[in-house]
Amino acid sequence: MSSEYDLTIIGGGPVGMFAAFYAGMRNAHVQLLESLPELGGQVQALYPEKMIHDVAGYPAIKGRDLVAQLAKQLAEFPIDVRTKSPVENVTGQMGDFTITTTDGTVSHSKAIIVATGTGAFEPRRLAVENADQFEGQQLFYHIPSLATFKDKTVLVAGGGDSAIDMALMLEPVAKQVYIMHRRNQFRGMEHSVDLLKASSVIIKTPFLIKEMQQLANGQLDLMMKEVRGDAEEHVAVDDLIVNYGFIADHKAIEAWQVTPTMDHYLIDVNTEMNTNVAGVAAIGDAVTYPGKLGLIASGFGEAPNAVNQLMMTLYPERRSPLHSTTLFEKRAHQK
Ligand SMILES: Cc1cc2nc3c(=O)[nH]c(=O)nc-3n(C[C@H](O)[C@H](O)[C@H](O)COP(=O)(O)OP(=O)(O)OC[C@H]3O[C@@H](n4cnc5c(N)ncnc54)[C@H](O)[C@@H]3O)c2cc1C
Repeated sequence: MSSEYDLTIIGGGPVGMFAAFYAGMRNAHVQLLESLPELGGQVQALYPEKMIHDVAGYPAIKGRDLVAQLAKQLAEFPIDVRTKSPVENVTGQMGDFTITTTDGTVSHSKAIIVATGTGAFEPRRLAVENADQFEGQQLFYHIPSLATFKDKTVLVAGGGDSAIDMALMLEPVAKQVYIMHRRNQFRGMEHSVDLLKASSVIIKTPFLIKEMQQLANGQLDLMMKEVRGDAEEHVAVDDLIVNYGFIADHKAIEAWQVTPTMDHYLIDVNTEMNTNVAGVAAIGDAVTYPGKLGLIASGFGEAPNAVNQLMMTLYPERRSPLHSTTLFEKRAHQK
């Protein structure tokens, strides 16, 4: 059976998007399958408003702007992009894998690149009884847009880099920002912690939110209890943003008939980004190897590696990629 696609990239986060573009540069016939309604993975879903400072070529770029640039790059080639298409099963072998999405759509591909990141990610939710009744109204797990919090009193719960980033991003927009953490020491980078301490953000440590209720004026009354102590404090806020990290769910991959070997829910790959299944490579946050960093920049480096080794396996007669993209540039101008 001849497969419709040379490569299927499963996962449309930043790394999968770049891999699909790069595969287009290699004249591969590609499809990109993404489970969420939008491309962009964690960047688009979890921190569209955050500034990213460690992507080559961009001294600083907002999450959503990086995703927009990746989408523009992706549009250079006729790649079949399907969102709202969670892959629920992969069967077959190199040359003809069968990929099934949850809506029952079946497609065939000679090779596969898994770029599913941390899997179907879910924010770690606030463990307060009535919390879900405020979710999406006054309780958020990411910043949908800075404008949502304009001139409001906001409390950010969490002590890592992204909680600190959120508090600092909100400071110039909101009326008053609080940050609450269960330890006295923040886990963020020293520079960010210094910025936080020098800012107008009010720091509340070591506290945990125990109760929340709506006041007559519509604000939320947060009852915070001291960790390993008896002190209690109340803060009235318009909105609460909880940043307690994320729970990764790799169950989808484990349920596939073709399942690469995994280590602590991450896919084992070699230096060419091959998994133990011939014809299946993996890249980005989904993988592990000695020295792996969970950064966009690392994933961007892994993508061409995976695409090129799979294309060389599928089409050994084709030329290896040139070290420069000049020829591609000429082609693009000729269009
Ligand atoms: C708050 C926060 C801040 C961060 N800040 C930075 C930063 O400043 N700089 C930096 O370099 N990195 C940062 N990171 C890390 C960075 O976001 C990740 O390294 C990057 O998103 C990994 O990209 P990815 O494409 O591998 O995976 P993801 O972004 O996780 O994308 C994977 C995609 O695969 C999809 N998917 C999963 N399972 C399936 C399936 N079965 N079928 C179809 N699709 C599926 C998911 O829906 C998702 O869209 C940050 C992360 C967080 C959480």
